[in-house]
Amino acid sequence: MERHQVMILGTGPAGLTAAIYAARANLKPVVVEGNEPGGQLTLTTEIENFPGFPDAIMGPELMDNMRKQAERFGATFVHGWATAADLSKRPFRVTVNDEDEYEAEALIISTGASAKMLGIAGESELIGRGVSTCATCDGFFFRNRPILVVGGGDSAMEEATFLTKFASEVTIVHRRNELRASKVMQERARNNPKIKWALNVTPVSVQSQDGKVSALEVKDNETGETRTLPTEGLFVAIGHQPNTTFLNGQVELDSVGYIKTQGVSSATTVEGVFACGDVMDPHYRQAITAAGSGCKAAMDVEKFLEGSSSHDWSMSSAGAH
Ligand code: NAP
Repeated sequence: MERHQVMILGTGPAGLTAAIYAARANLKPVVVEGNEPGGQLTLTTEIENFPGFPDAIMGPELMDNMRKQAERFGATFVHGWATAADLSKRPFRVTVNDEDEYEAEALIISTGASAKMLGIAGESELIGRGVSTCATCDGFFFRNRPILVVGGGDSAMEEATFLTKFASEVTIVHRRNELRASKVMQERARNNPKIKWALNVTPVSVQSQDGKVSALEVKDNETGETRTLPTEGLFVAIGHQPNTTFLNGQVELDSVGYIKTQGVSSATTVEGVFACGDVMDPHYRQAITAAGSGCKAAMDVEKFLEGSSSHDWSMSSAGAH
């Protein structure tokens, strides 16, 4: 069985930044790629809001660069994803692809969160061609065009409100008449003159023309009739699911499933296990915030391995590092 000082699970911006920092600290991290190597950014096209790239950079290229940077300092990569973990004692044990066992003195969990998808015809093949799960990333490409946002929660309200900055109009498409979103977010959306509503309809299929989204077909839940809502941009905002199943309840999660961390640190409820990126952040969910939290996790691991085995992470502040 291979034994390492630090194992990092996931290769989004959080995991790869943690890998860069841990490798530069000479901790020789081994990084498990995950089931979506490179993370959610590999599903997008141009990234225009990651500092340092005035002319934008393609998502896959940015992730490739981060990986090369980590490799340059000695990080090594394992193909596959963590399917189980034993965190009951150190060294921790991690099973990859249900068969390969690894041991690690410290663990950084950066397995991310996956955007929930509708699972309807046409949706997956049109991701990046009009179907998006990230308004902040892709809204800019729909200047003065009509946009649809699917969902009735806070995310849908927030994304729709944000998208009115660009779109000619934004229609919120929701499967019920009642919204799940908080009152304040609903009010903000309802008071926005650019936001229209298509309520009590179920999305049926995404239609395309010349390889790009052209409309969403929906079924009216009251009459059973189908109709098409023309659009070039379809934003799916029906929630995210943090990727924590493999932990099997060994680390404390919040009510939705995000890993709880202590104070401003990346420490979880298991000593020696740290978390960063979207798997512990239901709020910001940006590449740059994930990268920042990956940096914190690597610095916390370094401190932990230096011997402060009973460190009080709740008292940690950024300044203490
Ligand atoms: P959510 O609250 O779970 O809402 C998901 C929405 O998508 C629901 O309206 C749901 O419909 C709909 N939906 C789910 N599956 C669907 C499907 N297969 N087809 C069609 N519609 C589907 O998720 P969220 O909006 O991402 O929010 C998650 C958490 O983050 C919440 O606690 C929220 O308050 C928080 N959040 C807060 C803010 C903020 O305060 N600024 C912003 C974003 C998120 P039903 O209602 O019919 O189930």
